[in-house]
Amino acid sequence: MIDLKQYGYIDSETPPIDLIPGRVTELQRDQYTVITEHGEVTAVLKGAFYHTVGTREEFPCVGDFVFLQYNESGASRIAKLLPRRSKFSRADYSGHAAGYAKTILEQVVATNFDYVFIASSLNWDFKVSRIMRYLTQTRQSGGQPVVILTKADLVPDFSIPLAEVQKTAPGVPVHAVSSHTRSGLDELSEYLQPGKTVVFLGMSGVGKSSLLNALMNQDVMTVKGIREADSRGRHTTTHRQLFMLPSGAMVIDTPGMRELGLFGADDGISAGFHDVEDLITQCRFSDCRHQSEPGCAVLAALADGSLAPEHWERYLVQKRENKFVNDKSGYLIDKRARQKSIAMQHKGKKGGNKK
Ligand code: GDP
Ligand code: ZN
Repeated sequence: MIDLKQYGYIDSETPPIDLIPGRVTELQRDQYTVITEHGEVTAVLKGAFYHTVGTREEFPCVGDFVFLQYNESGASRIAKLLPRRSKFSRADYSGHAAGYAKTILEQVVATNFDYVFIASSLNWDFKVSRIMRYLTQTRQSGGQPVVILTKADLVPDFSIPLAEVQKTAPGVPVHAVSSHTRSGLDELSEYLQPGKTVVFLGMSGVGKSSLLNALMNQDVMTVKGIREADSRGRHTTTHRQLFMLPSGAMVIDTPGMRELGLFGADDGISAGFHDVEDLITQCRFSDCRHQSEPGCAVLAALADGSLAPEHWERYLVQKRENKFVNDKSGYLIDKRARQKSIAMQHKGKKGGNKK
């Protein structure tokens, strides 16, 4: 029997007699993996969920505690979502391809974390302003922020950036670490206590995967060489989305979580590549990488010639160049989503008025 308290479960509510508690550790399409006292089980939502739940944000996601009907021989059924103590969400445009005037949905990407490790690399493009934006995002999430300055082995002296963060964000703990030499990692043990859950925020390339591997004492995440950073696929992640560290703490890493920190394109790029960005919103999957995904609007447009390959290449090059210097906060995602929604409604209205 597994003690769910090891997974951060607080039994504030007694489950009905036919249900047991569990924590969602993985979500693929409609398939859930849930850790329960009987171990990991696969589960689906009970039919009633689809009728009673009004919005997507009320659907369980990785990190959620749920009550489920345990089924020994097949899929268990998730019957109830328990209240969340923290969450990160992103705007989801995926409903858009089906028609005009779609509402932008809130998609929850991680929940019930205790700490948010805001990762920022010491060796390039160190910007306190970016850390502050992540801090705002973190405070809205309900998690406790911890600033992690990464790649400490690459700088002779990190006392100045460290002091700068301490001064700008008083009261927020700051640690300089190196995943390569393991210096500073010990300092993180005060957060990585049994039953505690952590998520990482930070731009691509700052060393989040490396840190997770170092804390796991094994490679669970592909670390990319900076040079090939964006040429092909971002992360060949294992399917796992909730990792149990040897310390007994957990790390949630979902594709959606990564996007919060990635946030690539800047408005300048968008201005010159409206067509491309519009196409991207039409991909079937909101996290489409435009490589081989079914329903990819970019691949379709390349195939039928409506998108010139050079134009697509130029877009990718620009994105790549901007990747490390740009930053987008949750606010900007929302802003873009709102603008898109307004544009869509406008389009819909125009069409509807035609007689
Ligand atoms: P992520 O995109 O945030 O997950 O970043 P990765 O973990 O994939 O790391 C990006 C690059 O930074 C890789 O080339 C890593 O080898 C390198 N890197 C990560 N952590 C460290 C570190 O502590 N020291 C040094 N020197 N390089 C690091
Ligand atoms: Zn695509």
